[in-house]
Amino acid sequence: MAKKNVYYFAAGKADGKAEMKNLLGGKGANLAEMCNIGIPVPAGFTITTEMCTEYYRNNKKLPQSLTKEVNAAMAKVEKAMGKKFGGAKNPLLISVRSGARKSMPGMMDTVLNVGLTSKTIPGLIAITDNERFVYDAYRRLIMMYADVVMEKAAGLELPEGEGVRIQMEEAMEKMKKEKGYEFDTELTAEDLKKLANEFKAIVKKVIGQPFPDDAQKQLWGGIKAVFQSWNGKRAIEYRRIEKIPADWGTAVNVQTMVFGNTGDDSATGVAFTRDPATGDNKFYGEWLVNAQGEDVVAGTRTPSPLNKDTKSEHSRHLLSLEEQNPKIYKQLEKIRNKLEKHYKDMLDIEFTIENNTLWMLQCRVGKRTGTAAVRMAVDMATERLINRTTAIMRVAPVQLDELLHPMLDPAAERDAEVVAKGLPAGPGGGVGQAVFTADDAAAWAQKGKKVILIRNETSPEDVHGMHVSEAILTAKGGMTSHAALVARGWGKCCIVGCGSLQISARDKKATAGDITINEGDWISMNGTLGVVYLSSLPVVPAAPERNKWYKTLMTWVDAARQMKVRTNADSPPDAAQAIAFGAEGIGLTRTEHMFFDPKRIVHMREMILAENEETRRKAVMKLLPFQKEDFTGILKTMAGKPVTIRLLDPPLHEFVTLDDEQVKELSEQINVSVAHIKARIAQLHELNPMLGHRGCRLGIAYPEITEMQARAILEAAAELTKKKVKVMPEIMIPLVGHPNEFINQEAVIRRVAGEVQKKYKVRLNYMVGTMIEIPRAALVADRIAEHAEFFSFGTNDLTQMGFGFSRDDIGGFLPAYLAKKILPEDPFQSLDQEGIGQLVQFGVERGRSTRPALKCGICGEHGGDPESVRFCHRVGLDYVSCSPFRVPIARMAAAQAAIEWPRKAAAKPKAKAKAKAKAKAKAKAKRK
Ligand code: PEP
Ligand code: MG
Repeated sequence: MAKKNVYYFAAGKADGKAEMKNLLGGKGANLAEMCNIGIPVPAGFTITTEMCTEYYRNNKKLPQSLTKEVNAAMAKVEKAMGKKFGGAKNPLLISVRSGARKSMPGMMDTVLNVGLTSKTIPGLIAITDNERFVYDAYRRLIMMYADVVMEKAAGLELPEGEGVRIQMEEAMEKMKKEKGYEFDTELTAEDLKKLANEFKAIVKKVIGQPFPDDAQKQLWGGIKAVFQSWNGKRAIEYRRIEKIPADWGTAVNVQTMVFGNTGDDSATGVAFTRDPATGDNKFYGEWLVNAQGEDVVAGTRTPSPLNKDTKSEHSRHLLSLEEQNPKIYKQLEKIRNKLEKHYKDMLDIEFTIENNTLWMLQCRVGKRTGTAAVRMAVDMATERLINRTTAIMRVAPVQLDELLHPMLDPAAERDAEVVAKGLPAGPGGGVGQAVFTADDAAAWAQKGKKVILIRNETSPEDVHGMHVSEAILTAKGGMTSHAALVARGWGKCCIVGCGSLQISARDKKATAGDITINEGDWISMNGTLGVVYLSSLPVVPAAPERNKWYKTLMTWVDAARQMKVRTNADSPPDAAQAIAFGAEGIGLTRTEHMFFDPKRIVHMREMILAENEETRRKAVMKLLPFQKEDFTGILKTMAGKPVTIRLLDPPLHEFVTLDDEQVKELSEQINVSVAHIKARIAQLHELNPMLGHRGCRLGIAYPEITEMQARAILEAAAELTKKKVKVMPEIMIPLVGHPNEFINQEAVIRRVAGEVQKKYKVRLNYMVGTMIEIPRAALVADRIAEHAEFFSFGTNDLTQMGFGFSRDDIGGFLPAYLAKKILPEDPFQSLDQEGIGQLVQFGVERGRSTRPALKCGICGEHGGDPESVRFCHRVGLDYVSCSPFRVPIARMAAAQAAIEWPRKAAAKPKAKAKAKAKAKAKAKAKRK
């Protein structure tokens, strides 16, 4: 049987269903599903995503067989709706829309009102008795069709300002001005008729071809244009950011047009089944009377609130649908409840009311802020709509980032000058310098500047600038405008509908009353309240511990995960912050920053420059008190939790990169001649220090350093133990590649440990282990594990050495590697599971082959990357360690991994002992 490429749907009956997203796209699958559960949906059909792939494979040609299938489906639609496509009497108009597997808001093209021609126009006027409406629909069709199908999809690249759309907009503005109109709605039927003719003349002039006066031609032009827009510039850019594969393709949805702009008993709206910003269980939406869907989403008119719950300070005066048309509102609310029960998730819906009849045009799982995602997951589990496991899986780990994000300092906010107020579309605080175009945002961000993008309204063309901005501010639009949807999806601070702002992108400035914001001015935004300030305000860290939903969810997360989560922290405040975020220990304390302190560096340099062991020892021992203080602070903060402290690691070279002035100063401080210092620096110079004198090579060349650090750690531990503070130091030797390196350094540590225990008369609970960060170490992990009590995978160095990419110089070629898809992503951010990951897996397996209980963790940057955390779970690591702010993200990723790939639970020792005792007792009883 030939492959089916077209799937029909109408209320009560559909060929497809929700599970068919890959084939029908999200929109098509959900339209089918809504039909199946009896929700009123205008009839239509979906052309599959596979057809899109075939279109590209066949050199942008559609197969003959598709025409047949489309005609058959169209006949069914005509029957269901009692109208005829292209017919002179009661004509059927259709929309042609894109719909990928994953929503790509506004990134692809749509054509509405398809089917209006000189033949069908009189018929539609006769039926609607509304000439103005018909010509308004017609001029919209010409504008959209000419722009999308005849210009963009045809690949015409007209110079800025010469495209058909802008010329048509200008013609319309000119007419409004001549007639003295303020709003589009004032244009009469006659005006619109004239305008449609002008538009057609523009098409002919600019494109060189007439606007097609044939319904079938329009239909096929629209279908091809949608497929074509899959590979449009903005769709490609969005796919790159969202990591959507290019071979997924888009479906095309052809659907009966219903009109929200036929008069005052018609309307259109967008709603969320719960509040997408806060997660509150309230029906939330916006609507516009006598308008088309694009008016709401494009943000050209500020919409009214759907109901009492949606009213805000800014919209209190506007009439809600609940007030204006309670009957339809009740029907809509019923649909909302039905959809939530059916999908068991928060949905984003689009509806149209045509002459008092309600139609649903779209439903999809709604985008939400991180705050909302957490609250909805917990609420829905509490309402028993979903179970706890589903609740955990509902929140993408990175979404937590937003709850952990800083807010503007409320005290500073009270005194700051308010420039404007708008709708709070994306919560949190944002501070940056004003820029007025997406390109400027991208260019400034490239230079390392923090920017806030200010636009009248955003369009999909702006996504690259929006992505790099700290926050987004728009003058127009509502909570469901493009800017709001996109920002919310990214968890970015965003304020929309800031009507008091007059923005001129050309002059690169915005004014609000007598205040002017020029390009480069610092502004601050409170995206939770929708307030803009003209200054750079301080920000305060987030306080997730005050969010009860977050706290509940994280207790479920912790119960579900099988890996521990530690933190990388070098100071007591960082350690304390990490504990607040749920860290269960420290996986890496880098001791180097302790040496770069100005008071200490001089002793370090003195040590490096020393002629003999005696002077060297003397110099290094001056650092002992400082180090002891450091370790005491950290161990105390982490009382009862393991703390991995790594011995000194950075290249020696880094301590003595000095200019002439610094050499002179050092010479005076340590009483060594300038010439001698310079000679020693020259001697220490390394071409590639990251592969040079660093890691355990330092301690091997200068055992005094290891001795001093071990003593500082163990004496701090001994003193705290005496004070009854439970400490668990784990001393970690860096950059080991050969077991003998470990043996050498371990001997120094054990000797010192013996001395310290004797001196303090205590038994210390400590371990000696190593980093596995050199490929050779992973390969001989079994031999290293004969001595090392724990492994911590240093995937930063492992990636560096495994790939042979210098960590510090990858910027020279990584962008090209990513652009040319040589690598899917930066391997220093997300672990290269296929390659470097094998070294980790092999290292764990080999290590545990000699020491079965070997504790294994990871402390490279990857420990906070959700995908890498999942991998760590799969290869059996005991813990991941990451920066404090990523601890909750790692906890969540670890829980999700445990849900997806549960490890066999090891029998609890207590349970084992109990079982053994029971068996023994039973045997004894038997013997008796
Ligand atoms: C590593 O190499 O992964 C690591 C954690 O150490 P550093 O980044 O300090 O070299
Ligand atoms: Mg390292």
